[in-house]
Amino acid sequence: MLRYSALLKDTKAYKTLQSDISAGRLNHCYMIMGEDELVVDGLIDLSCEAILCKDGGCGKCVVCQKIEDKNHEDIFEPKNLKADGIREFVEKVYVKSEGNIKIMIIRELDKIDPKVQNFLLKSLEEPIDGVVFLLGAIRQSAVLDTIKSRSKKLSLAPFTKRQLTEFFDDNYIGKPKSLVEEAVDCCLGSLARCEDLINDEEYFGDMSEVIFVLKELTSTKVNLKMQKRLDLKDGRLARYLDIMQLICGVLLKRKSGVHVEGFDRVNVLLDSFNLATLVNFNELIMQAKEKIESYCKDENILDNLFIKMMEVKYLCR
Ligand SMILES: [Zn+2]
Repeated sequence: MLRYSALLKDTKAYKTLQSDISAGRLNHCYMIMGEDELVVDGLIDLSCEAILCKDGGCGKCVVCQKIEDKNHEDIFEPKNLKADGIREFVEKVYVKSEGNIKIMIIRELDKIDPKVQNFLLKSLEEPIDGVVFLLGAIRQSAVLDTIKSRSKKLSLAPFTKRQLTEFFDDNYIGKPKSLVEEAVDCCLGSLARCEDLINDEEYFGDMSEVIFVLKELTSTKVNLKMQKRLDLKDGRLARYLDIMQLICGVLLKRKSGVHVEGFDRVNVLLDSFNLATLVNFNELIMQAKEKIESYCKDENILDNLFIKMMEVKYLCR
């Protein structure tokens, strides 16, 4: 059984594909689009099962097992995403398949150079009987319009908190319930993020520290004392900055009246910063992230960031 299959089968994208199959109207090309790479990837495998398994994707038969082991004879993927890999892949479209249907998969179409994406056009323009393309994309803007217009789009929305909670209630994954609940609460509907959070037991402790420090961002003196709470050992700064950016993003949405599910832990900061301050914070955090890449000292980056945050908070008050 594919991981998360119950959750993936609960998406509108999967249900659309399923109704195409049962109505005998399978399209020659589907583009699976979403921000969550884990879900895009999983849905591609699940779609293969739905198309090739005679029980519509039972997850148990030989066909489904081959798909999960990635060795089904009628499924092709490029060996790389460069010109030679895609050229060789396209040639396979015309090779006779073992069964009635052949599936051509590109999981990360958006990572292919637009010039190389062009190689696919001919086989998409003149569909061949028994050949189905499944294309995955995270960044839709990086996909050629000519490919988009020849595909049936299956868009993936973030999961709701209820969907994720029900899934983890039904499927024990060997982690404490409280950790899973925290991860569901802070993943903003992304399964990939939820999984990262579940596997990172120090994350929520770090997040509490960052919230505490932001709450105490009042005067330079207090600020310096607070900063000491953030331990900068082994690459921790990048992680603190990610958390800060996430928190500011959630606050920004909430203050602009955009509904954000979960993340109630940041509400203690709602009255600490106004909209203008948060917009500026986001900018400052991004600048700090760039500095990490230019090998500035972590302590200096953090000092500098806090001083600037204090300034912004004062100027935007
Ligand atoms: Zn099956």
